[in-house]
Amino acid sequence: MSEKEYIPKRAMSIHAHPDDQEFTVAGTLARWIQAGCEVVSVIVTSGDAGSNEPTKNADYKPELAKLREAEQSSANAEVGIKETVFLHYPDGALEPTLNLRRDLTRLIRRYKPEAVVTGDPQGVFYGNGYINHPDHRAAAQAALYAVFPSSETRLIFTELLAEGYEPHKVKRLYVHGSDKSDTWVDIAATIGIKVSALKKHASQLGDWDPEKMLREWAAEEGKEHGLEYAEAYKVMILSEEEDRG
Ligand SMILES: [Zn+2]
Repeated sequence: MSEKEYIPKRAMSIHAHPDDQEFTVAGTLARWIQAGCEVVSVIVTSGDAGSNEPTKNADYKPELAKLREAEQSSANAEVGIKETVFLHYPDGALEPTLNLRRDLTRLIRRYKPEAVVTGDPQGVFYGNGYINHPDHRAAAQAALYAVFPSSETRLIFTELLAEGYEPHKVKRLYVHGSDKSDTWVDIAATIGIKVSALKKHASQLGDWDPEKMLREWAAEEGKEHGLEYAEAYKVMILSEEEDRG
């Protein structure tokens, strides 16, 4: 990379489920936080479909949602994130609706992030073994269009103006999981934090220790870019203007 390392002053991380952020972008968020960035973590569903135990049925879902929100809050504390917002959409049935886009637009206008970090709404097949969860794509698509055009355009969702939320322009969008990555963030100093944050999601991991896999992924992403461990992004630069705040 020729440009000086980019560190936003404020960033928002938007993901479908508790644990998505830790599997994907938490190393970058931790690095930015160590450099003085404030991060807001937005979790669209509370992961209330995240159990295949034969004894668990619909009446378990509220309890599981509470458990997973607590796990996410612990993970965020590990990363250094002070603000977490749960939107409580249903896990496993997420769509990129206008309601979701409006909810995300409201949060962007409220917290005024300079950068937004999310997944790739176009990612469907990863390798030969993983079909991307449709909730991931839905959250990413709603986040993408909340960033542009909804947050910065005054006359989209005018009900938000009535609530007191003026337009806000996000300057950079970091998209993780793209097959067109162009930016590699060095996470050598924060991969340990990423691992310990992911381990907070005990309800999902069971006895499995995710450390080896996370390190292998990060080594793979970094290896052609001179980095021991990295997270890769496609970055949209929507404004070159420096933040003065
Ligand atoms: Zn997920």
